[in-house]
Amino acid sequence: MVQITSQIHSIDGLDHPIPTVGMVSYLIEENPRDYTLIDTCFTCSIPAFESYLSKSDIDIKDINRIVLTHLHPDHVEAANEIRRKTGAKVYSHWIDAIYLSHELQYNGPPDKDAFEHVLKVMGTNIENISKKFGKIIVGPIVIDRLLKDGDTIGHTLQVIHTPGHTPGHISLYDREHRIVIGGDILFNSILNIVGPFIPPPAVTKDWETSIISARRLLNLKFEKLLLAHQSTPILENAHQMIEKAVAVAIAQKNSTIK
Ligand SMILES: [Zn+2]
Repeated sequence: MVQITSQIHSIDGLDHPIPTVGMVSYLIEENPRDYTLIDTCFTCSIPAFESYLSKSDIDIKDINRIVLTHLHPDHVEAANEIRRKTGAKVYSHWIDAIYLSHELQYNGPPDKDAFEHVLKVMGTNIENISKKFGKIIVGPIVIDRLLKDGDTIGHTLQVIHTPGHTPGHISLYDREHRIVIGGDILFNSILNIVGPFIPPPAVTKDWETSIISARRLLNLKFEKLLLAHQSTPILENAHQMIEKAVAVAIAQKNSTIK
């Protein structure tokens, strides 16, 4: 657990089935003994999650809100169990809530073939993964509060709808500390790719829209970008890094249009 500011802690290195990817959740202290958790992890990582909390002297029952940046299993699989342990309310954008509640079935990406392909590229396979993670099946998650662009959570977090990676993907903006918690708006130095980059089409519903959403963040004033999948947090020059990642993605996109 790393303290980013006096109010923001990152819970680093939670397990992920794909090598190098990892998972980082964030805890925001709204008031003394009143926390908002941004994204969860896989159920098998809950003991690690709880040990991070106890090392930092945080009582899990003081987590009052669980905000899901988007519907992907690595962000939400443990949500029902963490809700049970904390009694917290669960929040997500209203669009992803339709899929999270299983009202509509989500068809990816990523799909099974893409997942298996990435595992192969990273030197592993489904059999190895299931030894630790079991069958990755996310049950219905009831969303207590449906979010929309511009909503405020707690004292400081503004909801920015950043669709593309999933239709209801959100980022969270802390204007006072000039921080964006970006979910999967970018990945940083994972999957053997150096530096921040727009998550590839294999894991992204609408790649073009995800590029536009990253570009939209450039309208905000911030220096720090905290992501769910990162080798290190981006604690300075985040604006320029997003600008560069967007330019690279736009060039890639245009090169495929003949
Ligand atoms: Zn994702």
